Amino acid sequence: EAKTRGRGRYEFFDVELRERVQRQLRLEQDLREAVVDGQLWMAYQPVVDLRTCRTVAVEGLMRWHHPTHGAISPVEFIPLAEESDLINLIGDYMLRTTTEEIASQRAARNLDTRLTVNLSARQLDDAALVPTVEEALRRTGLPPQTLCLEITESALMRDPEVAGGALSALRGLGVRLAIDDFGTGYSSLAQLWRLPLDTLKIDQSFVAGIGRPGKSEAEAIIRGIVTMAHSMGLTVIAEGVETDRQLEVLRELNCDQAQGYRFGRPVSAGELFPRMAG
Ligand code: C2E
Ligand code: MG
Ligand code: MG
Ligand code: MG
Repeated sequence: EAKTRGRGRYEFFDVELRERVQRQLRLEQDLREAVVDGQLWMAYQPVVDLRTCRTVAVEGLMRWHHPTHGAISPVEFIPLAEESDLINLIGDYMLRTTTEEIASQRAARNLDTRLTVNLSARQLDDAALVPTVEEALRRTGLPPQTLCLEITESALMRDPEVAGGALSALRGLGVRLAIDDFGTGYSSLAQLWRLPLDTLKIDQSFVAGIGRPGKSEAEAIIRGIVTMAHSMGLTVIAEGVETDRQLEVLRELNCDQAQGYRFGRPVSAGELFPRMAG
């Protein structure tokens, strides 16, 4: 009896696995069309300075409106794009769109808002990345220090040697560099120290632990990260701030900047910028 139950379970997993693989293959094909078809667009989330309460930057986050499935999360489609060469096409689209949108909003509203965008591990390996960034800055006239490129801790640690080389080349353009989702990977201080970074973004899982009973270790960890980052001359941004309590604690812990639903969800440039003016 146990045997038949076991077999049933295997068949169940087979079906589930096949369906998942099929969905991925379909989505990968659809993603190719999405780029040409204009189904991708960029949402922006404010990054707020904790001393002045001003929005100092916006983070560009990619959105895919699929014609039949509706909204698909970047958590699902970015890894798909990374498995193929699509990530470079999508990355080019993202850099072009965000620099154009932010340059035009800055000019139209006389703002000094900076732009931060996400790069994936595969893009760091691409020889075309540095010329693409350079070209985007040149075409839009955005000052290089206005642009920040975020790379997740795990992407950096995949091959610290290669990543370090790519970061140095990007730094040569004058852009800023941030380590994203910090605390979720396993980087050592010594490895971080060698990278030309400007900013460290504390992963939202730590912020979620603030003020939660039995989770007070989150505050101790954040305190440690902030102290370490500041001693390395890095600006610290907390991600995923949702409550007043979290905001209060992050201020006390000397965090420099924050983003999260407490300040604003990611929305289109057309929706975000009119609110920011004045
Ligand atoms: P990330 O760069 O760490 O972005 C932060 C994520 O947290 C975003 O999810 C954002 O919508 C979400 N978030 C912001 N505030 C809050 C909050 O208060 N609470 C909660 N629970 N979540 C919050 P999103 O937009 O789904 O993006 C997920 C990840 O996908 C990003 O993580 C980034 O790694 C990747 N990604 C997004 N856009 C791009 C892109 O254009 N290129 C690349 N390579 N990766 C991208
Ligand atoms: Mg990010
Ligand atoms: Mg993050
Ligand atoms: Mg993340």
